[in-house]
Amino acid sequence: MISIKGLSKHFGDLQVLKDINLEVEKGKVIVVIGPSGSGKTTMLRCLNILEIPTNGHITIENKQLDFSKKVTKKAITDFRKLTGMVFQSYNLFPHKTALENVMEGPITVKKQSKEIARNKAIELLNKVGLGDKIDYYPFQLSGGQQQRVGIARALAMEPEVMLFDEPTSALDPELVGEVLKVIKALANEGMTMIVVTHEMKFAREVADEVIFMDGGYIMEKGNPQNIFTAPKEERTQQFLQLIQ
Ligand code: ATP
Repeated sequence: MISIKGLSKHFGDLQVLKDINLEVEKGKVIVVIGPSGSGKTTMLRCLNILEIPTNGHITIENKQLDFSKKVTKKAITDFRKLTGMVFQSYNLFPHKTALENVMEGPITVKKQSKEIARNKAIELLNKVGLGDKIDYYPFQLSGGQQQRVGIARALAMEPEVMLFDEPTSALDPELVGEVLKVIKALANEGMTMIVVTHEMKFAREVADEVIFMDGGYIMEKGNPQNIFTAPKEERTQQFLQLIQ
């Protein structure tokens, strides 16, 4: 269970997130859509505490951070373990193999033994369809394969929730499907996920709830059927007309 209350984020004078409130039940898939600059990435980065929110509360399971007070580095590090982030640009270590990339977090952050981390990494790389590529370096892999390593790497930390920031937007069109297939399989297994994407067909298929952001606000939310076929807000209608 995730609960976001009164979340705001400023960059200097620019307020990028404005009173974000959101509840996500365990096992649900939330898809976030909205125009460029509306704050989608910043919201995900705040959930992963890659950005420190200016104000508000975030609760994941029974752990809470209250950004109206100063939060310690330790609290941030502990909280970050609850979420796994998959980035648009993969962000793999270029000098490490697929296997080493997936093992890195569990060994350095979770202090797992090499053997346990290795076995788990192999299992996860098999799961994302890369069992035959474990010793490949990122430059030897396609974008779609690199992104699947990125997903395995996030899963290796056994997060409560997976955060996907436009996971397919850097990919050539023919590679998008293989990554979406992996994300869909995770959704079907009951993983709690928040996915920022421009893939509307995918959003319709996997989302339990779609959120439309604009100007730092959640303007509208609802089930995919309602949002895509009968959006209430004019801004949502305009956005969907432009991209569909
Ligand atoms: P896109 O779909 O283009 O990725 P987005 O909805 O994810 O857009 P954000 O990346 O969250 O939007 O950006 C929201 C606003 O915050 C933008 O105006 C952006 O320029 C600004 N912004 C984001 N990160 C920073 C930063 N580190 N410093 C200053 N401004 C920032």
